Amino acid sequence: MIRALLYFIVIAVLVLVAVWLSETPGAVRIDWLGYRVETSVGVALVLAVVLVGVVTALYRLYSLLIDGPRALKRMRARVRRDRGFRALNQGFVAVASGDAETARAMARKADRMLQEPPLTLLLSAQAAQLNGDETAARRFFEAMLRRPETEFLGLRGLLTQAIQDNEPVKALGYAQRAMALRPKSPWVVQTCLNLQVQLRRWVEAQSTVAAALKAKLVDSPTARRYKTAILIERSREADGEGKTDQALSLAHEAVKLSGDFVPAVMREAKLLARTGHEARARKLIEKTWSKAPHRLLAETYRDIVPVTEDTAARVGRFEKLLRAQPDHPESLVALADQEMEAERWDGARTHLMKAEAKGPSRRIYRLLAELEVRQKNDSEAARDWLMKAQAAPPDPVWVCDHCGAVPDVWSAVCESCGSFNSLAWIAPSAAAHLPAAPAARPLARPVAEEPAVIAAQ
Ligand SMILES: [Zn+2]
Repeated sequence: MIRALLYFIVIAVLVLVAVWLSETPGAVRIDWLGYRVETSVGVALVLAVVLVGVVTALYRLYSLLIDGPRALKRMRARVRRDRGFRALNQGFVAVASGDAETARAMARKADRMLQEPPLTLLLSAQAAQLNGDETAARRFFEAMLRRPETEFLGLRGLLTQAIQDNEPVKALGYAQRAMALRPKSPWVVQTCLNLQVQLRRWVEAQSTVAAALKAKLVDSPTARRYKTAILIERSREADGEGKTDQALSLAHEAVKLSGDFVPAVMREAKLLARTGHEARARKLIEKTWSKAPHRLLAETYRDIVPVTEDTAARVGRFEKLLRAQPDHPESLVALADQEMEAERWDGARTHLMKAEAKGPSRRIYRLLAELEVRQKNDSEAARDWLMKAQAAPPDPVWVCDHCGAVPDVWSAVCESCGSFNSLAWIAPSAAAHLPAAPAARPLARPVAEEPAVIAAQ
């Protein structure tokens, strides 16, 4: 509507100008190089307009001829780039869906079409892995190391390969390099710690835990538990190398850090006893017992025997433990156990029955069965207790909350599955009801679980 109106106005103005020109006659005369041109003003104006039009058209033609090839090239490059990115896209989709053939074809096409090595290298490496060509994948990953923008992804690829090839030393090298690049990447810190634990490089593992805490990848109670476990292992190693003093001070540090973690207390107490500090060793256990009685502490306590002690004196010692925790079944059973050693049958029976009233367990019933046989030679009564033992809840033991293994002694690394700090003191049947492990322990899964195909971060 407005266009039509404008058009109409332009036509009207032109008509008016034409009418005005024809009504106001005038002449234009040009004398030039011996030629003379005479014409009316109207014709001269029309000629001028035509001339401007011709010159404009000529200029357009000229610039098209000069600029054309360049514009064409730009257009071609754009098409190429579009195709390259489409190939890249299809390639990654093919990797995700496991289509090795398409992945490889698209990787080649993207490489040809795009001048974007960071992107095409990753696709090429993944396609090579999907085709089972680990050597080619390694070559691409190594090429990625040479560019800062792809170095981390390259390291991740090489690290995963080294773990799969079961080369933990090599893998740790890549992991440490990756951690220097991204100290806050949970995956890297976790892998680093796993490898250090697997290689029993405890001092390095300890600094990784400190770094994880600093980067807020673990909370401080978790970091404290990890550090305690590492300190106990360091103490064990120092002891194995004959460095008893160092072993003792590491164990002491573990006890102080964890408060009452039983393996740490046991370790320090045993080392104290071995270095001639039996009284201090016993005092340590008594102090821990007053906070949390534990069957293994009772065993350690029993073994720290003064030279002159007879069974009666030992009963006296265990009465001290009972006084510290008078109602605890562990106190009652520990004392009863010693009373049976000293053949104080009535005392043993009283304490076992009291413990049973607090909470029946297989151990209590087995001790009662033993008591019947040893005190009265009553195998019938013993059989009754053993029947009860079968129905009673099992006693707690160390259970790996990752694989369910039940090792005899605590260690920082599960011997069955290699998990770090995964042992808990629980009744074995309860292990079946544990939640899925990863949620409970965000760090330190076994390294073999890492995905084969790397993912862009
Ligand atoms: Zn395990």
